[in-house]
Amino acid sequence: MLKPRLETDPLDHPGDFRRALREWFRREGRDYPWRRTREPWAILVSEVMLQQTQVATVLKRGFYRRFLEAFPSPAELACCDDDTLLKAWEGLGYYRRARQLREAARVIEEDHGGRFPATLEAIHALPGVGRYTAGAVWSFAFDRPAPIVDGNITRVLARLMDFTGEVNRPAAQRQLWDWAGALLDRRRPRLHNSALMELGQTRCRPGVPDCLACPVARFCRSGEPQSLPRKAAGPATTAIDEHVVFARRGGRVLLHKLPEGRRSGMWRLPVRQPAEVAALELLHRRKYGITRYRVTLHVHRAGRFKAGADERWHPIDELDKLAMPPADRAALMAVLGGE
Ligand code: SF4
Repeated sequence: MLKPRLETDPLDHPGDFRRALREWFRREGRDYPWRRTREPWAILVSEVMLQQTQVATVLKRGFYRRFLEAFPSPAELACCDDDTLLKAWEGLGYYRRARQLREAARVIEEDHGGRFPATLEAIHALPGVGRYTAGAVWSFAFDRPAPIVDGNITRVLARLMDFTGEVNRPAAQRQLWDWAGALLDRRRPRLHNSALMELGQTRCRPGVPDCLACPVARFCRSGEPQSLPRKAAGPATTAIDEHVVFARRGGRVLLHKLPEGRRSGMWRLPVRQPAEVAALELLHRRKYGITRYRVTLHVHRAGRFKAGADERWHPIDELDKLAMPPADRAALMAVLGGE
């Protein structure tokens, strides 16, 4: 057993709970670039990047810093073309987020005269900005009270309150938002929300939490926190095969620009049907995941072929200027390296 089940929860002593949480965060909270700024645009960018990408990835590979250097305000992003945008976002995945961020930048430029909106409702109305992101910007940038519930806070609240329902059900979501609102420190929302997120990242982690080092263990109801939160099963993953061809003419390779879908506007090796590549030499095989698919990418040496629509020859020494899905870039580099 990690900890005893308690008969008390944070709502019994909300002031004591908030104080314990913020004192711990003041001592041990980590220093992130988005915690050093009050600039709402920089905070919006960080929140959109962190929606489906881990903190370590956003920081370690310099995505956040480089993106803000390229787009220091909504004005620069609002007029950015697709190729530049996708290249700046390459490696973060879920490219729809990048386009929605650009849409938000355009709304800020066109409807708000270039000034970041200064009400919670107007922030929430920006394209791609849901309740969580609006509350995060409102509390982190403006230090104004709004609850936030993301994956980390869902886990923390489910354990604190010993909530054994499936947290991805609508009624459970309403309950979690209500608890987050009731616990919110309305005088210090920036500090409180940052601390709650930090608790989920460093102590109340997925799997087995570190209850012995938890600053709010004395308010936590759960006796089996490692079993929480519970979720209704999502759609099963599906294994699929993709076949692409590698065609080279001197210093150029043939690439295809995706016209639609999640990765539209990105370049990748031309896709072919299995029957078209059955007799071709297999050069490389690589696995990757996208949404609910486990993909095996097969790269074949092109035989005689006709370039299709949206397919172009690109200089090999300029490939790093193109936006490409990471698995396609890695496969192409492996093939070029093996030639
Ligand atoms: S770390 Fe442990 S004690 Fe702290 S909130 Fe999570 S489950 Fe409760």
